[in-house]
Amino acid sequence: MNEKSHLADFHLILQVIDNIDAGVVILDREHRVVAWNSFMQAYSGVCVDRIMGYDLFDVIDDLPKTWLINKINSTFKLRTRTFSCWEDRPFIFNFSNFSPVVGGSSVMYQNMTLTPLKSLTGEYHHICLTITDVSDIARNKMHLHESNAQLTHLSMTDRLTQLYNRGHWETCLAEEFERCVQLQSSSTLVMFDIDHFKKVNDTYGHVAGDAVIKQISTILQKTKRQSDLAGRYGGEEFGIILPGTSADMAMYFAERLRSRIEKAVVKVDIREIITTVSLGMAEWTPAMANYNQWLECADRALYHSKQNGRNQSTIFAVSEKTAQKQSM
Ligand code: GH3
Ligand code: MG
Ligand code: MG
Repeated sequence: MNEKSHLADFHLILQVIDNIDAGVVILDREHRVVAWNSFMQAYSGVCVDRIMGYDLFDVIDDLPKTWLINKINSTFKLRTRTFSCWEDRPFIFNFSNFSPVVGGSSVMYQNMTLTPLKSLTGEYHHICLTITDVSDIARNKMHLHESNAQLTHLSMTDRLTQLYNRGHWETCLAEEFERCVQLQSSSTLVMFDIDHFKKVNDTYGHVAGDAVIKQISTILQKTKRQSDLAGRYGGEEFGIILPGTSADMAMYFAERLRSRIEKAVVKVDIREIITTVSLGMAEWTPAMANYNQWLECADRALYHSKQNGRNQSTIFAVSEKTAQKQSM
């Protein structure tokens, strides 16, 4: 091959590099720019004349300099390609691009590759930095993550109250039961049911009934600790798991909740509705074989509150099985 045909080949390769849909930058060991293709010009707004022969970090001053120099140095040292993924570092060059999805200009997510370049004499004096625009992939993946998180939230949340739904709450109860078995720790389960709720529906209608359920759930959310797990167990029945709490301590919570509900007024149109709740609670004991037995104990205490006149809290007494329970 003669010199002329070498030159022709080189000319073709240069055109490919210049027109490729990725950023191509060649740097020497002092970070001076040796090649800067059209992609880089278009997105940075810096033309070839302004950057060729200059230190990359002097011209583009918002690069992650320390991090990138470390990467470049290790690429030279190891003489192998190194990569950077958008998931670890969203972008290297602060480029923006037009996205039809977002409907405007937004940050360009980038993958970067650093390749050590071997000279004809076998030395490594240059490095090739390539930038790939992965904005579509990044946006799709982030959208998928958000959708999954929303689906997970929906699958465990009750629509009316935004509390945990029965399925998820029971899973939490089963987990807490296992935790208690392993650590032999104290934990109390509180169940409560709205008093004479049928009457609310019959007098004010189902929509007003729903508003009462919502209001009580809001009071519950505001009264419980962040670590307490509240769920809608049935139509107008609720359960709260109080981890690390004895029955006596849970009684303070139950009474605070009961009293707040008693004082709350639900306004539906011009009508004002006042309701009360009956509560029952049971502390976990090693004698319980499974979480259903725990539920049964709290339910019995709740039943006792109902039988005893409603609008009150009862602790299930371990020693005395059925009707003999403490009440407040
Ligand atoms: P008690 O004091 O003994 O609990 O009397 P109660 O009238 O509340 O009796 P019960 O708990 O058996 O009644 C539950 C009623 O709650 C029956 C049902 O129509 C109503 N209900 C259940 N779920 C919903 C709901 O999502 N919205 C409304 N508005 N009503 C519901
Ligand atoms: Mg009821
Ligand atoms: Mg009920």
